Amino acid sequence: MAATTLQSRDVPLGGVRGITVHRTLPHRSRPTIGAWCFVDHFGPTDARMNVLPHPHIGLQTVTWPIEGRIRHRDSLGNDVVLRPRELNLMTSGDGVSHSELSADDDPMHGVQLWVALPNERRLGAADFQHVAELPTVGGPGWEALVLVGELAGATSPAVVHTPLVGAQITLDGGEVELDLRADFEHALLMLDGEVEVDGTLVEHRDLRVLADDADRVRLRPVGDGPRTVLLLGGVPFTEDLVMWWNFIARDHDEIEAAREAWEAEPVGGRYGRVEGHGEDFIPAPELPHVRLRPRRRLKL
Ligand code: MN
Repeated sequence: MAATTLQSRDVPLGGVRGITVHRTLPHRSRPTIGAWCFVDHFGPTDARMNVLPHPHIGLQTVTWPIEGRIRHRDSLGNDVVLRPRELNLMTSGDGVSHSELSADDDPMHGVQLWVALPNERRLGAADFQHVAELPTVGGPGWEALVLVGELAGATSPAVVHTPLVGAQITLDGGEVELDLRADFEHALLMLDGEVEVDGTLVEHRDLRVLADDADRVRLRPVGDGPRTVLLLGGVPFTEDLVMWWNFIARDHDEIEAAREAWEAEPVGGRYGRVEGHGEDFIPAPELPHVRLRPRRRLKL
């Protein structure tokens, strides 16, 4: 497929002082980039993050604060304050629950991503990894923090289960050209302004999907000051994905069972207990009255 630009849609995340996120994946024309299946960009905003305990199955959550600290607590007993330039990676396996709350009064800016787990890992045990020091790599006019996978010789210690790359690239000055793996699909999210990607202007918050066979990308910041982009890539994910609420499964019945388990016992059941929240949790919405079906890629 040729390169294309996906625009974000605004999604209010509920709660009285809840935040609005700018979602580019899943997109009706494009469910995934590699195993990356969910991309929410939020802020900068003075709103506070206040996400009470909720469950996940079938995925890894990647929390990436650009400004503002986030306190993460989960049913594995982790209680971590996540700072900018640090990564939280939670692997749900077939059941985990967690909460995420703002931990300071700074403006909040960041990205929440999900990675779909492959069949051989998705029903396994939950896990959590906090990476306080990520590798950096750079050259004239650019620097990258490698969140996941490998870029330009720098490799992240984050554990993922399909071939994947995720990197925050800061462009400061002129044009930059990066080599990419030709067997990956790739996309770039504009975190703070406009950037020219292979000569095409891409606006703030948009996701530029590169051509399938791209093995390099040319980036040029537009306007004054540095520009920051998030590079996402991976080997095409070919397993069926049924995504609903906080769950990823392979069919409707698995989703229904996951929902019922949360409804029956949100504190202390299949998804464990997140300490510090008493009996507070986020209830599951009603399932739609049609059977959920896998998201399939449309030809563009
Ligand atoms: Mn979550």
